Amino acid sequence: MIKVLVCGASGRMGREVVKAVAREEGLTLVGAVDIRDIGKDAGELAGIGSIGVVIEDDLEEVLKRASPDVMVDFTTPASVKNNIRKAMENRVVPVVGTTGLKNEDIEDIKRWAEELGVGAFIAPNFSLGANLMMQVAKQIGKYFKAVEIIELHHDKKLDAPSGTAIRTAQLLSEGEVMPSLEEGQPSRGDTRWGIRIHSVRLPGLVAHQEIIFGGQGETLTIRHDAPSRECYMPGVITAIRKAVGLKEVIVGLDKLLGL
Ligand code: NAP
Repeated sequence: MIKVLVCGASGRMGREVVKAVAREEGLTLVGAVDIRDIGKDAGELAGIGSIGVVIEDDLEEVLKRASPDVMVDFTTPASVKNNIRKAMENRVVPVVGTTGLKNEDIEDIKRWAEELGVGAFIAPNFSLGANLMMQVAKQIGKYFKAVEIIELHHDKKLDAPSGTAIRTAQLLSEGEVMPSLEEGQPSRGDTRWGIRIHSVRLPGLVAHQEIIFGGQGETLTIRHDAPSRECYMPGVITAIRKAVGLKEVIVGLDKLLGL
């Protein structure tokens, strides 16, 4: 049995993870941490009825008492790094979906992994479709040199641009796409690795992204839509299974799926 703790268990993604872990053979939920809904049953919050695991707010204490193999984190950009550190110090491998970690943060986490001998898995996007979109974009970027990204999310999302858009720009920048020319005009979005990213935040949306390539007299658009959060769960479950005993830091679901 793989013992799993979910951090951010009361949130939109956390509740979906609680549901997925509860129905998965070979996985057992041993802890649920959040700063809201303390004392409530995590299963009831997730809509699957009581599972006997209540929401607690002291991550350190739950890590020590429940000694999980893996901690899944879907919290906030402000708290995720601290949560990762606590998990690794307690020899628990973090599987991180929370976005907003910067390159410097990833470097720190890699250093902690070397010091503590405990790895981590970090994925800005756990959906198969979004990861395929990024890989296909990299291929198209060999032929279409001009590109911009539009990412569209629900209005409660805390970070912008999205982690997926930043990762897409990073992957495209490893190829030969042409950075957009002028920098820093708000009406033209933000830039990462010289690639423009436009962020839309509206109620009614969940998570969507378009990558538009411009060529001579033509454009090519690829688009991914996640109208609900269930699309992330196969990726999260795969990551939990592969994270047990992990000693290094792996970034990106594509690495686990061999894309
Ligand atoms: P959410 O609904 O706001 O859930 C986050 C939960 O974490 C909230 O209940 C929040 O409480 C709680 N929290 C805040 N600080 C905490 C702490 N220190 N310890 C424990 N819990 C804490 O957000 P969401 O929509 O689930 O998204 C969570 C993260 O996942 C975001 O960064 C989002 O971008 C990312 N995400 C990633 C993927 C992926 O595939 N990798 C997919 C979707 C979303 P409060 O509300 O009281 O702050």
